[in-house]
Amino acid sequence: MSRSATPITRRRMLAAAALLIVPGCAPTGSPAENSPPHWDYDADGPAHWAQLDGRYSMCGTGAGQSPIDLGHPTRVTPAEHIDIDYGPVRAVEVVDNGHTIQANIPSGTGHHVTVDGRRFTLTQFHFHAPSEHTVEGAGSAMELHLVHVAEDGAIAVLGVLMEVAEQPSAFSPVLGELPPARGSRTIETLDLRALLPGDLAQFRYTGSLTTPPCTEGVAWTVLRHPVPVAGDEVERYLARFPHTNRPAQSANGRAVVLAGG
Ligand SMILES: [Zn+2]
Repeated sequence: MSRSATPITRRRMLAAAALLIVPGCAPTGSPAENSPPHWDYDADGPAHWAQLDGRYSMCGTGAGQSPIDLGHPTRVTPAEHIDIDYGPVRAVEVVDNGHTIQANIPSGTGHHVTVDGRRFTLTQFHFHAPSEHTVEGAGSAMELHLVHVAEDGAIAVLGVLMEVAEQPSAFSPVLGELPPARGSRTIETLDLRALLPGDLAQFRYTGSLTTPPCTEGVAWTVLRHPVPVAGDEVERYLARFPHTNRPAQSANGRAVVLAGG
């Protein structure tokens, strides 16, 4: 074992441990036995996250933060798509974690994405409103984040923009009835594939969690085409969480690629 291996492994373990206790973009919805420091989208909002706790310093000092504006991407071939392997899932716990509505995927169900040949397992999905990612400054009503974790703790998030439309909404099992405030409810079955658009053209870049601790090194994929959500579902979410979006951060020269667009 090289001399550098131990500190690197330890850093990864610490990063993974920190993520386990933070709701929002973090990979699990573990409740509060190790309560992370308070943060919100109001008085303790995005401009102040870095000052709330030393563990949140990356929110202020990081140069590779998310979300960003996805305008002006570099186009690449469709072969560089990530692969998305989703299907129906049973017994999904939907939680109001105080920051958003989050659905926890039971472990062992095998839903995953493959990014550059590496497998990331879906652990949870949650929502933001309005959208966090923008395209040439334009946002959408909401944004879905599907959070995946690799065996070594690395994170990949799949973002899906949601636009109000007079079409059947695939989100009705989740947003048609919210869990009680700070409570949970279980939905019997949910077809994860139905939450995605038919055309999987995708923006890709390297960023961060969009909530404290704003951990970097996240493999981001944001689908170019939005999916429909019902107007009353958006209103129901906004009545609980009036605004849950971190503003666009500086790209700082990071490349955004558009695959299949
Ligand atoms: Zn998120």
